[in-house]
Formats: sequence, structure tokens, C-alpha cells
Amino acid sequence: MAKMTLDEIYALSEKTLMDNGCDAPNAAAVSRTITAAERDGSQSHGIFRLPAYIKGLREGDANGTADPTIEQVAPSVIKVHGQEGFAPLALERAKNPLVKLAKDQGIAMCGLTRIRHFAALWPEVEMLAEQGLVGFAVTAAVPYVAPAGGREALFGTNPMAFAWPRESGGVLAFDQAASVIARGDVMIHARDGHPVPEGTGLDKEGNPTTDGAAILDGGVQLAFGGYKGSAIALMIELMAGAMIGEVFSFEAKETAVPGCPFNGGEFLMAIDPSKTAGANFLAHGEKLLGKIENMEGARLPGARRHANRAKGGPVDVSDKILEAVAAL
Ligand code: NDP
Repeated sequence: MAKMTLDEIYALSEKTLMDNGCDAPNAAAVSRTITAAERDGSQSHGIFRLPAYIKGLREGDANGTADPTIEQVAPSVIKVHGQEGFAPLALERAKNPLVKLAKDQGIAMCGLTRIRHFAALWPEVEMLAEQGLVGFAVTAAVPYVAPAGGREALFGTNPMAFAWPRESGGVLAFDQAASVIARGDVMIHARDGHPVPEGTGLDKEGNPTTDGAAILDGGVQLAFGGYKGSAIALMIELMAGAMIGEVFSFEAKETAVPGCPFNGGEFLMAIDPSKTAGANFLAHGEKLLGKIENMEGARLPGARRHANRAKGGPVDVSDKILEAVAAL
């Protein structure tokens, strides 16, 4: 492991992306996302992802000079045309119009289309909660997860994120894959030779396994919570696919370049609770959140990340990743 400051991570990411064909706005937006993941201790979406972003550029699958545009399609609905670029710039462009519409209308929705999403979802829901709004986001991927009872990969690992503004000015946020663990975590466990948790997946013969390499080698991942998580993965396919005019995970696979960030869409929604509940919603929310914070053994989702964030780095980065990035 090497120790790196967050500034060093940002600079390495930005230079590597620009050396491989990204323009400055795209390199900066992706690097902010990667650096934020490292800052928060979300290593599976930090610099670990940089080689795949670069592969997307080199294979001509991702557009490193995408200039995402916003189209207002209804009074409180916008569509972002991502131009096959990486999601972070498209999301940054969506922020102000979405926040304004949510504050005007009480609720606003955004379908991000033709993007390459390969990151955590908490940055986009937290950016909404930081503006006093409730944020909700879902995206699909490529098929890794079998529906409950099945053995064939159909769903993506399909994350869902939710954020709520805190009275203190901070945010509550959860962000979770519909699979037992994220794909990146299966890859990291396989790379480091550590077993994955029981229930994570099946090998290519359909047998339960804790060997991440066996899951990656023709096996499938499983949804969390059996058929209940499988239903959430199904909902996410519909919301990030058919509902916004984008592809399902199994359709994304038809044009996907293996190892590159996923092509497809993302659904993002912002709600202004002051419209539905009046000004007291913040204090009322704190009553519930405070009970969890004060309960022995319990914690709020996002608390681990926010504690890492407060440290501000430096962070440990795998030597293997740095070697791979240096070669790029
Ligand atoms: P985790 O299972 O690690 O965590 C899920 C959520 O649960 C987090 O908000 C986490 O907060 C919270 N949590 C964890 N432990 C506890 C606990 N003991 N008590 C209360 N809350 C807890 O995440 P996943 O592996 O499911 O997903 C990892 C990431 O992968 C996500 O950011 C997701 O967006 C991303 N992803 C992206 C995809 C894409 O296509 N772009 C595809 C699939 C996943 P905390 O972080 O503070 O621990």
C-alpha cells in the first residue's frame, strides 16, 4: 500500500484521463468522483476504477469529450443527453436545473441517457440533500445477478441511493447495490484471494460459492435478501431502463465492451419536503435519526463514509493499482 493525499489522487487521475483523450471538463468531473470515493473510503469506486475508465476511452466506447446537454421535457422533468460520456459531468450539469425545478415544483425528475456509469451513487443524492432536498437515484449495469431462483445473469448489480438533509447541514445517505456485494468488491476479493460473504453468488455449475474468482468465471451474483432484493433489482431495471427510454442490463450487454464503464441510463429524483410537510420536516427527521444514532450497536448508513471524509486523507492506495495506472 502507498499513502497518497487526496490532491495527489486527483492529480494522478486527471493527468491519466487527459493523457488518454479526455478533455478538461470530463477529466475534472471523473477525477472529483474518484477522489471523493477515496476520501470517503469507498475504495471499490476510487482509483481502482481508473484503468476501466481509460479502457473505455482507448476502446472508443466512451466519449472523453462529451458535452452533456439538458432538455426540459415537462414542467418538472428534464432529460440529460450524455453523448456516451462518463456520468460525472452529466450529473454535475443536471444538478442546478434539477434543484431549481424541485424547489419550484416540489418534485423533479431527471433521466440521464447515453452515459457511462461506473461510480457510486451517493455523490448525486448527497448533492441534492446538501441543497435541502431528498435525493433518490438508481442505475442498472450489465447482467451479473440472477433473479431469485434462477441461475442466469439478467439484472445488473443495480444500485439505489437515497439522501435526506440534516438539521445540522449534513446529510443522511444510503447507497447500496441490489446484489449482496458490489461487482467491484467481488473483483477486489478475488484479486486479493479473500473469500466473499456466503450468499454472494453461484459458480458456473450453479453451486453456492465464497470464491470470488469462481463467481467471475462464468458464475452469477445473487440479490441481497433473496426474492425481496430480486424485486428491487427488477424495479431498478424498469426505472433506469424502460421508464427513461434507456436499455436494460441485458440489452446494455449487447453493445458493451467488456471491462469498460457500463453504457445506459440513470434515474435521479429530487423532492422538496418543505412543500409536503412544511418547515418542520428537518426537526421531525432528526427525531428518528437521533434514535438510531443513540442506540447501542446501531449506526446510520453513510456514517462510516462521513467519518472517513472528516479525516481528509491521506489514504492507502494499492501498489497493484498504482502500477496499473502508471502503465497508462
Ligand atoms: P455496502 O453494502 O458496503 O453499503 C450499503 C449501505 O449500507 C451504505 O450506505 C453503508 O453505509 C450502509 N451500511 C453498511 N453497514 C452498515 C451498518 N452496519 N449499519 C448501517 N448502515 C450500514 O454497499 P454495496 O456493496 O451494496 O455497494 C457499494 C457501492 O457500489 C455503492 O456506492 C453503489 O452505488 C456502487 N455500485 C455502483 C454500480 C454502478 O453501476 N455504478 C453498480 C453496483 C454498485 P457506509 O458507506 O457508511 O458504510
